[in-house]
Amino acid sequence: MDAEIIAIGSELLTPRRMDTNSLWLTDKLNSLGVEVVTKTIVGDDRERLTATVKAAADRSGIVIVTGGLGPTEDDLTRDSVASALGRGMSFRQELMDAIVDRFARMRRSMAENNRRQAYLIDGAEALDNPNGTAPGQWIPLPGKGAIALLPGPPREMMPMYQNHIETRLKAILPPAFIATVWYRIAGMGESDLDQLIAPVYTRYTNPVTTVLAKPGDVEVHLRARCATQAEADALLAEVAPQVRELLGDRVYSDDGAELEEALGRLLIARGATLAAAESCTGGMLGGRITNVPGSSAYFRGGFLTYTDQMKTALLGVPEELIREHTAVSEPVAKAMAQGARERTGADYALSVTGYAGPDGGTERDPAGTVYIGLASAGGVEARRISFIPDRYRVRSVACITAMDWLRKRLT
Ligand code: ATP
Repeated sequence: MDAEIIAIGSELLTPRRMDTNSLWLTDKLNSLGVEVVTKTIVGDDRERLTATVKAAADRSGIVIVTGGLGPTEDDLTRDSVASALGRGMSFRQELMDAIVDRFARMRRSMAENNRRQAYLIDGAEALDNPNGTAPGQWIPLPGKGAIALLPGPPREMMPMYQNHIETRLKAILPPAFIATVWYRIAGMGESDLDQLIAPVYTRYTNPVTTVLAKPGDVEVHLRARCATQAEADALLAEVAPQVRELLGDRVYSDDGAELEEALGRLLIARGATLAAAESCTGGMLGGRITNVPGSSAYFRGGFLTYTDQMKTALLGVPEELIREHTAVSEPVAKAMAQGARERTGADYALSVTGYAGPDGGTERDPAGTVYIGLASAGGVEARRISFIPDRYRVRSVACITAMDWLRKRLT
């Protein structure tokens, strides 16, 4: 059974508000083995809404509608869904009593238009909303599926999905068992990665393979869906190792852990410590490393040396070295890493120096060029990487490259 999500509200069609409900709901539905095949955002317009709901109910088994359950004239969800299904609505005193009660508990007076929220579509079941006034509605469509109406605010919608919708969906879905694995990979672009693993995953429609990319970071999800858990596990056990083998040591986690977490685990396992010396990343590397609770067990600290003088004063990078090679160079990246390692006594030190862009750079090293250094007991090395000079991208990929370099070294 496929699902469709309709997000209602004119504000979601402005640049100021984003429909995040459907992202969250898609994740939940996928975990039940339900594919979301269509998502729609509709403004507060009765005719468009009615037509959208009607089309969705005709073509998809499960329709989840969020928003527009408020008390005002432009909250049209109840009316439009009733029209789309050709059903009436009736006033329910028990729903009204619950709304009155909520206002009384909050010591607020209730506006007359809140009565609108006490109307229930014929054949619907009311769903309690402990975090707001708008009750949800569950409308079974026998032999076909169901429509769920949930309020728009995520803090109301999420618990209502979890408390009311999930079990009702499970009851109408054919039994399905899911087995998933999730590989996270650094240091490879989405298209290269896809090319690498496509020969394996395109041979199978089950498990379904999804590749998701962020700058410098790609995720590969495999999800098998079968009538029994044993079948789903067996199917995944057949396909996942083939994909895993092709990805090799590029995989930094298979349990959802972030790169900094994977690196932290390795440092703890080796009883090793780390320090950072940063220029163009401006503390971002230290920030990421310390995102992990308990990172003080292995992270000694970092140096944010943005100017040449600071590189010399804090890390002991010789002035002549900077003069001769510029601050964005392999010798300076090495000297920064060495300086950080010596000054903190850490086992490993990472350094980053580069031109984050969009401007700056030299002929040899245009904007988007970054040198990364890695110092350890065995010596010091540096690498040059270069990207299109998009400031956020350059800085975040530099952090990922640095952490992943050390991760591979420790693996
Ligand atoms: P209420 O009675 O609380 O107003 P409602 O069902 O009428 O509930 P809306 O008025 O449609 O909800 O939306 C209220 C707010 O909830 C919006 O201004 C927005 O901030 C948030 N919201 C609505 N829909 C979404 C969505 N799809 N994704 C994220 N936030 C949303």
